[in-house]
Amino acid sequence: MTKVTLIMGDGIGPEIAEATRRCIDATGAKIQWDIQQAGVDVMATAGTPLPEATLESVKANGIGLKAPITTPVGTGFRSVNVYLRQALDLYACVRPCKSYQGVRSKYSDIDLVLVRENTEDLYAGIEFEKGKGETLELIDWLNKHSKRQIGPHAGISIKPISVEGTERIVRYAFNYARKNKRKKVTSVHKANIMKYTDGLWLEVSRNVAKSFPDIEFEDRIVDNMCMQLVQKPELYDVIVLPNLYGDILSDLCAGLVGGLGVAPGANIGEKGAIFEATHGSAPKYKGQNKVNPTALILSGVLMLRHMNLTKEADALEKAVADVIAEGKDVTYDMKDDRNDPTAVGTSQMADAIIARIGK
Ligand code: NAD
Repeated sequence: MTKVTLIMGDGIGPEIAEATRRCIDATGAKIQWDIQQAGVDVMATAGTPLPEATLESVKANGIGLKAPITTPVGTGFRSVNVYLRQALDLYACVRPCKSYQGVRSKYSDIDLVLVRENTEDLYAGIEFEKGKGETLELIDWLNKHSKRQIGPHAGISIKPISVEGTERIVRYAFNYARKNKRKKVTSVHKANIMKYTDGLWLEVSRNVAKSFPDIEFEDRIVDNMCMQLVQKPELYDVIVLPNLYGDILSDLCAGLVGGLGVAPGANIGEKGAIFEATHGSAPKYKGQNKVNPTALILSGVLMLRHMNLTKEADALEKAVADVIAEGKDVTYDMKDDRNDPTAVGTSQMADAIIARIGK
């Protein structure tokens, strides 16, 4: 039995986490679940959205499946998701975007993998609040050392991009491409504007590419990349991006394959891995047994592959694909008409997937 931490999350988290756990168990995978809490629901009792026990459990087990967690906007409460990635140094966020037959989408043959840097960039959490003493000191320093002047009413977020951070993520993307028999890596940036951060990213990307002559390499400016993905997604294969662009393009690519309900993800580092859906906690649907469990279940498939449980992963992915292709026992968002009364609930879609495993 391998121990895996299951973080139940908040909002729709607990419902999709339970559905996913049942589907994975139905494959016969030898997993012992270590169930832990995080998010706004546990905040009231534990006084923190990320109890020490949850962090310790993932550290000890080295592998976790995580349901979404709410990050309230405009409060001092920092994102638990970002914190977990930083605390465990899960530097690679891998988001495969693949078309499944039967999913409502404008495209039918997408097979892309986004590899997003997870620890640096504007998401590093280095921020200075408008009006605070240290912010004014920083503004003063910047005004002395830069040609551009910043007024006293500005807030400041810092964008660190390092050689080491870029090198390891680009190398990860190339190794991923090689291991998964993919042909091309595209590095995304805005080096024409941000010369010392994105410019560095591009230079390091080009250098790393030289060690992988068997994989094609190219780069794209992020705005052009957005247009290209909408117009010619078939031209791309593995795409490596700094944190912020990676976050935004993940949602764009999720849109190409039918939306957030079907977009899985993995956060991977040297010491551990956490698997989670791209979507958030959709609080308005909390407790309604309504939302689509597919993205978290497909994240579970990625986890099984990471654990080298290939037979179990294949069986679960096929069962999900079959249920979606049939289009009967699926949630409202997968029906042509979102008000279709034949749509089933989260738990019933999981039941249909379980019934298909091994068939
Ligand atoms: P969201 O992904 O929760 O919801 C966006 C839209 O997609 C909503 O209309 C929602 O109803 C729909 N949706 C999401 N998941 C769905 C599913 N499984 N099935 C059907 N429809 C689904 O994004 P949001 O509303 O911007 O964020 C809500 C909260 O989640 C915020 O606090 C945000 O910070 C947090 N969040 C957490 C994570 C994470 O835990 N990794 C990721 C993104 C957002």
